[in-house]
Amino acid sequence: ALLGNMNATLRLYYDNAYLTEFTAQVVAISERAGHPALALDRSAFYPEGGGQPADRGWLHGAAAERRWEVVDVQSDNGVVWHLLAAGESPPAVGAAITGQIDWARRFDHMQQHCGQHILTAAFIATCDAPTVSFHLSERSVTIDLAVAELSEEQARAAEAWANAAVWRNVPVQARFVSPEELAQIPLRKPPVVSGAVRVVSIGDIDHSACGGTHPARSGEVGAIAVLGWSRQRGMIRVEFACGGRVIAALRERDAAARAAAAALSVGWAELPAAVTRLQEAQQALQRELAQTQRELDALRAAQWYAQTPPINGRRIVTATLPMAGVERLRAIANFIAELPDGIAIVAGGEERVQVVVACHPDTNADARDILAAGMAVLGGRGGGNARMAQGGGGQAGALAAAIAAMAERASHHS
Ligand SMILES: [Zn+2]
Repeated sequence: ALLGNMNATLRLYYDNAYLTEFTAQVVAISERAGHPALALDRSAFYPEGGGQPADRGWLHGAAAERRWEVVDVQSDNGVVWHLLAAGESPPAVGAAITGQIDWARRFDHMQQHCGQHILTAAFIATCDAPTVSFHLSERSVTIDLAVAELSEEQARAAEAWANAAVWRNVPVQARFVSPEELAQIPLRKPPVVSGAVRVVSIGDIDHSACGGTHPARSGEVGAIAVLGWSRQRGMIRVEFACGGRVIAALRERDAAARAAAAALSVGWAELPAAVTRLQEAQQALQRELAQTQRELDALRAAQWYAQTPPINGRRIVTATLPMAGVERLRAIANFIAELPDGIAIVAGGEERVQVVVACHPDTNADARDILAAGMAVLGGRGGGNARMAQGGGGQAGALAAAIAAMAERASHHS
């Protein structure tokens, strides 16, 4: 197809963002990204651009039953391409069609897009933070501010300023202006296009070069809620919601808060206090559990010691406690080595094998020697002093043989 001479599509949304149905003629058929794509002489469909996603909708043929879904809309050299589902057979060039916009989706985009103009103006007015980029998707709306920090007070001040501007319900006007007229308008930033520039003015709040779709008055944005912000490549990314998305965000948060409140049997307003109480109770339980475990370990150690017959005047207690951390192994080894003639060889470890050897001073045994006998079998590493040594690693499967080797070494006076 010879597309070089194609006329630019007449964009009906420029004059009327509320137009949801229109008639047009198919002027070209092409293919884009594996989809049949139609160019019309005129269209109310907004093509993706300026941070605003493309419209969706339908094209109806002259025969009432024929209908094509528009799955994407893209602009190329002034021509608006309406993409149909892959595999669809499109209407012929010259066919008359009726276009229909998915209005719920479009109005959502109008609320978010216009709300972005207002919030951007608000951040400049309240904390001198310019917007460098804008992203709008089905899941979230964000702007990136060229500042390193944003405080809660600044975010709330900008939010309050933005909502006051929404509720003043000022007119939103879009018009194409000449370069001479443009010079008289206090634009937020210089336009990226040359020639006639479309300027969108939201009362005296904001003047921007913009090709997007906007409601007729700021009040239709409804409300603007700043949902959160985070550092992003040296800037601050602000997530926000406008209009219907404020209600959706409220519902989502409300559902989460209700579920948490129900689980704790409190009202949602009492959630922070209830969570604090829960954390404090859990910490108290953990302290109590640790204390109980220490007491139990001391009793066990004494019992193992009592059941161990002396060999060459030494009581060599061996024990394996799977999942016991090294701190607990050391505590148990200490309990045993405090008893007369006690030598402890205790093993455990959560992810890798840990061995602790401890010796009562009167035994004259060297914990490092005993540990070394075990590490030689395990293939692990360790160290310490004559009273206590610890090591670990190596092959967990060799632990029983290593313990036997250490017990054997401990039974001989060096
Ligand atoms: Zn705009």
